Amino acid sequence: MNTPAAPEQASPQIGPPLWLLAELTYRCPLHCVFCYNPVDFAHHPDELSTDDWLRVLREARAAGSVQCGFSGGEPLLRDDLEILVAEAHRLGFYTNLLTSGVGLTESRAAALKEAGLDHIQLSFQDSTRELNDFLSHTRTFELKQKVAAIIKANGWPMVMNCVIHRLNIDYIDRIIDMAVELDAEYLELANSQYYSWALLNRDQLLPSREQIERAERVTNARREQYGDRIRIFYVVPDYYENRPKKCMNGWGNVFLTVTPDGTAVPCHTAAMLPGLSFPNVRDMDVKQIWYDSEGFNRYRGDGWMKDSCRSCPDKEKDLGGCRCQAFMLTGDPAAADPVCDKSPHHHVVTKAVERAQSGEGRMHEAPLVFRSPEESRKRPVLSS
Ligand code: SF4
Ligand code: SF4
Repeated sequence: MNTPAAPEQASPQIGPPLWLLAELTYRCPLHCVFCYNPVDFAHHPDELSTDDWLRVLREARAAGSVQCGFSGGEPLLRDDLEILVAEAHRLGFYTNLLTSGVGLTESRAAALKEAGLDHIQLSFQDSTRELNDFLSHTRTFELKQKVAAIIKANGWPMVMNCVIHRLNIDYIDRIIDMAVELDAEYLELANSQYYSWALLNRDQLLPSREQIERAERVTNARREQYGDRIRIFYVVPDYYENRPKKCMNGWGNVFLTVTPDGTAVPCHTAAMLPGLSFPNVRDMDVKQIWYDSEGFNRYRGDGWMKDSCRSCPDKEKDLGGCRCQAFMLTGDPAAADPVCDKSPHHHVVTKAVERAQSGEGRMHEAPLVFRSPEESRKRPVLSS
């Protein structure tokens, strides 16, 4: 495998890490079947201290970061969240909290407002209590509705997110209606991508083509109906595309994620990639991590590409797709993303889609796996 030489610091080809995603903890009271946290998360219980995170924020800002997302797990489980938000705000970050809503009481919301938090994204699992609570294996539906009201009362824009998959896609109209009733300004209906826990449950979660097309039609009709009252983003699963997405807008191009134990990665699942070591913010400055570390340089640009991508006229458009998806589906992190119909492994994706069409592999054949520390501990350690 080619390893491009580390560029000089502040090389003109490499822009700054504009987006910092601070994954404060893997702890979460919910047990979502599509959770994007690594399946081996319970093997990594260590968390950075408040002082470590404050230093990461300062170093990232000095390296040029402008947006800071606080996520998890459930970031509200950290009782220093207000301190971190206040520091990020003082440094000039635009701050965003990604939350299930659990823990966002009126008093914590007031404290976060006071700390300068700019934006909250609240996740739902469905528009009904039954399915929301089933998919997260918790009783959180009513709590989320109360949290939506708290968000509005504090004057934040109401941004809702609902991961879409086979089990809720047919109710997408009701999900949109609920968002309007809760006075949301934005609704993100992102079809599950098949990583981590969603990959374990792919047979049960991947919708059929008919379901996807119907959901698009329904979403467009609701857009017409509601006009400017709400902006709706609908993202199809890339299994139904012929070309992969330009994952994370390019490896090490814009996004810097710091996992709960301080590992710095170009995306939240990259730590699973074999033969690649990622630095820890306890040992290295953020700027040095971004420009000089092997982990961030390995898949930058196109120098690492193999045959199908190297000579491809489209390589600038998608940079070969997602390295994690390539590894998960082919065993080779430097292969073309098999979503691409030029990939010699594209049949892996078409086979999963065929199974979704025929309804094979549903719950009666294999039960859903809910994310939990107990399930996670059964899995082998994947990441460093
Ligand atoms: S996807 Fe669900 S289980 Fe995973 S971190 Fe988010 S709320 Fe928690
Ligand atoms: S062959 Fe590679 S570069 Fe070309 S379209 Fe497919 S994934 Fe993209």
